Amino acid sequence: MAGTFSNRIVHDVPDPHLSHLAKIQDALVAWFAEHGRDLPWRHTRDPWRILVSEIMLQQIQVARAIPFYETFIERFPTVQALADAPLADAIRAWGDLGRYRRIVNLHRTARIVVDAHDGRVPADEAVLRTLPGIGPYTAGAVACFAYGTDTGFIDTNMRRVLHRLFVGPDVPEPIVTDRVLRALAVAAVPTGRSWDWNQGLMDFGAGVCTARKPICDRCPIAIYCRAKPSIRAALDTVPRKPAGAAPRYDTTNRYYRGRVLAELRALPAAPTEVGIPMPELGTRVRADFRPTDLPWLQGVVDGLAKDGLAAIAEDRPTYDPGPEPLPRLRVKLP
Ligand code: SF4
Repeated sequence: MAGTFSNRIVHDVPDPHLSHLAKIQDALVAWFAEHGRDLPWRHTRDPWRILVSEIMLQQIQVARAIPFYETFIERFPTVQALADAPLADAIRAWGDLGRYRRIVNLHRTARIVVDAHDGRVPADEAVLRTLPGIGPYTAGAVACFAYGTDTGFIDTNMRRVLHRLFVGPDVPEPIVTDRVLRALAVAAVPTGRSWDWNQGLMDFGAGVCTARKPICDRCPIAIYCRAKPSIRAALDTVPRKPAGAAPRYDTTNRYYRGRVLAELRALPAAPTEVGIPMPELGTRVRADFRPTDLPWLQGVVDGLAKDGLAAIAEDRPTYDPGPEPLPRLRVKLP
C-alpha cells in the first residue's frame, strides 16, 4: 500500500497530512541507504540474534549495547544454548548491561521457544507477544527485521518522527495517542521495504529528527513535514525547568543493585558456589557499610530476589551461638 493510507486504520489523521507518503518513503529509505549506521545485528536475519539485540537495546544507547551483544551471542549463539544454560550463567553473560529483569525474561523465553516452538523464534507478532518480556515493539521488530514482515511498530525515536511528520509538533504534548501512532506506523510501511523503512526511521530519529534539536534545515523530508513550520515556536513555548528541578530517580538503589549483581556474578560457578554472607556483601558494595545498613542491603537483595536475579540462603548454626543469634544469610545467583 505504498503511497496511500487507509483512513479506516488511521481515522484520527486527516488525509491531506498523508498525501505525500510515497515520496516520503522513497526519501527516507534513500537517506538510510546513505547514512544508516553499520550495526552488528543489521548483518543478520537470524531471529534469535535479532531478538537478543532488540531486548538489549531497550532503553539503552546503541553504542553501549554493541560489546554486550557480541559477547552474549558468542556465549549463546542459539536459543537452544541459552535454554540449556542455568539462569546464573545467563546473568553472568549479561554483564553490566543493567535492567536485569530483561535477562530473566529472555532466559524464560528461550526455554519456552525450545519447549513449545521447536526451538524456532516465532514469526507471528501475536505469538511473539505471548513470550515473557516481549511487547508490541519487540514483536514487530523481530517480525520485520528477522522475517521481513511488512509491519510497523514504534520506539521512542520512531514515535517522534511519525508524529512530527504526519501529525504535527509533539511538544508540549503529543496530539495523538500511541494507538494512533502504531496504526500510522503500520500503514506507513512501504510494501517489500519494511526492513529499510523501519531501520531508517530509527536512525533518522536518532540522528536528524532528534528530541531537542531536530536538524530541520538539512532534513530530506522537511517539505512534507507537518511539524516543521511550528516546531521551533512550539519548542520555545516549553517552559524551561529551573536548575535542579529535573525529575528525581531512585538511582541509588539501581546503582547498588548493579554492584550487588557484579559481586554475585564474580562468584565461582556451581557446584562450588556458596554465596556471599550478607555483611561481607555490604562491605564489598559500599566502602562506608556498617552493620546498621543491613536492613537497607536486605531491601536491595530482596528486590533482586523478587525479580529472579538473586537467591538468599540461611545458614543453620551447628551449635547454639547464644540467646539471640544473628541471622546468617548468604546471597548468590539463583
Ligand atoms: S523537518 Fe524537522 S521535525 Fe520535520 S521530520 Fe525533518 S527533522 Fe523532523
